[in-house]
Amino acid sequence: MEQMNRTEGLRALIRQGLQAVAHKDTLAHLGDSSSYIGMSDIGQHWECPRAALARKVLPTTNSLERLLTLQRGHWFESGVGQALVSLGLHVLPQLEINWHHHGVPIKAHLDFVLVWGAPVNAIRILKVKSTDKLPASPHDSHLLQLHCQIDLLTKAWNKPVFSLRAEDGTLMHDKMTFPQLCHAQLGLQLHATAAETSMEAWLLCLSMKEVKAFGPYGFNQAMLDTALDHAAQLWGELAAFRAGHITLAHVDCAQGFYPLCSYCEHNGDCPKFPQGVQMPQWEPALEKLAAIKAQRTALDAEIKEMETVLKLVHRQAGTRDWVDTGNYRFRMSVAAGRTTLDKDALREELIEIFHSEHRGDIDVDTLLARCERTGSPFEKLSISPIN
Ligand code: SF4
Repeated sequence: MEQMNRTEGLRALIRQGLQAVAHKDTLAHLGDSSSYIGMSDIGQHWECPRAALARKVLPTTNSLERLLTLQRGHWFESGVGQALVSLGLHVLPQLEINWHHHGVPIKAHLDFVLVWGAPVNAIRILKVKSTDKLPASPHDSHLLQLHCQIDLLTKAWNKPVFSLRAEDGTLMHDKMTFPQLCHAQLGLQLHATAAETSMEAWLLCLSMKEVKAFGPYGFNQAMLDTALDHAAQLWGELAAFRAGHITLAHVDCAQGFYPLCSYCEHNGDCPKFPQGVQMPQWEPALEKLAAIKAQRTALDAEIKEMETVLKLVHRQAGTRDWVDTGNYRFRMSVAAGRTTLDKDALREELIEIFHSEHRGDIDVDTLLARCERTGSPFEKLSISPIN
């Protein structure tokens, strides 16, 4: 029991420390985030307006897990910053753009802006995201934020709306144009307009073991309009909420399956989950199911790791035959990959064949749909934690 109290005490201590660091960092770099719309607010509002508003107006309870996830992002970011600086590149970390759109105060904080002056004349914006697993494609809300950043930098280039802070949050440069700031901070001369500079934005996703880059992305007026539109909507909802004209119940929530609902702190009374009956007697069963699923995930990871090691051992043993361990034998072999039907390629082939046979009247999509088979409906159990 005493040991349990002490380990819990250590966890509580770490949580408290992380909470203090997060609070200090937020104040130093982001200021009072209730007084403007930030890029992550825009990304969040695009996916779930209710969660975006709740995040702005309701206090958050910071669990150790949540704080760790947040801080891990900052640690990764700082590591990437060190790597870039060590190469002698000209880097602006956390460049701030203060923008107004129809009276809505918007602030963009760009993780890293790499600058090359004449004769290269190039700008690269790097947004760093730490994730448990690397995504196959970038998250839509991250793309919207990234587009908004490059679009604002391009539009605001020669306006005095750029600021830069030191690591401790002290303002080093304020209300400058982008070329002025680059000259003051990096000693570089830039063109008077963004049009003469090569501009790209990249998303860099980092997991504990891997890195994946998505890009390049360039200026996109439609994306900027979408982002600004969401900023204006959220600002209007904030004002109406503060004036007592609306509650969270009046704001739309995410439509369809939204994986972040499980982590949402405001999912307790969210209308996305219409309440049925109360059956508290089943809580232990759900807890047990969650625990054994977590064990399964851990076991799957362990199995994969051991298999990887054994494959390596077999490779290094320099034999194609079985390796004898006494009660077991093992070997590594190469198995053929799965064969799948490429529907797009088949569609193209069929269109071409029908065209050459003068049978262009045959609707290939309808033909393919006729050959599709749908399995019988099945019962599916969905479980979501109430935070
Ligand atoms: S639970 Fe899901 S839908 Fe509801 S507010 Fe949270 S993120 Fe949005």
